[in-house]
Amino acid sequence: MPESPSLCLSCGLCCDGTLFRDVELQPGDDARMLSAHGLPVEHLRRKSRFPQPCAMLGEGCHCALYEHRPLRCRQFDCAQLMAVAEGTSTRAAALRRIQRARAAADEVRRLLTVLGEADTHRALLSRFQRLQRRFEAGGQSHPATALWAKAAAAMHRLNLILSRDFHPRHSTARRPPIQ
Ligand code: SF4
Ligand code: SF4
Repeated sequence: MPESPSLCLSCGLCCDGTLFRDVELQPGDDARMLSAHGLPVEHLRRKSRFPQPCAMLGEGCHCALYEHRPLRCRQFDCAQLMAVAEGTSTRAAALRRIQRARAAADEVRRLLTVLGEADTHRALLSRFQRLQRRFEAGGQSHPATALWAKAAAAMHRLNLILSRDFHPRHSTARRPPIQ
């Protein structure tokens, strides 16, 4: 969680499994120290990473590991933070975009849970893809298939919002604030 606590504490999308499935540790990160602080670091093929939703994310989007958080967490600035820092968007506009993205993610989570994919310890995309495999295998009832179509549309909408408003390669510069 970067250096804009007021926005990040209203958001948490880069820690709660909405934007990312996992976070890779970088040279300079102390995996042993992070594990000792409770971060569930996994080692696989010479890479170390920890899954999202992050176990360190607490109430009010507080990071329980804030002082010791990994490098990627320190370095990540989403497009909203960048735009506010650059002066190309306002804090109020960023908050509106955050609220819209969180609502879209909540809707996807709600639909996935209704469809039986209720594992809140998995990242949103992983949950979605598990269901996708199940429906692609066929044999689902018409009502369930109709609900799945709704979930897929909600996921598509969320991905558009995340791609446009949060992934850092897309700055909000030169776009007017949402109404
Ligand atoms: S997505 Fe952006 S605003 Fe939200 S917590 Fe991450 S860095 Fe902060
Ligand atoms: S360690 Fe903290 S900043 Fe990093 S993903 Fe977890 S909650 Fe977010």
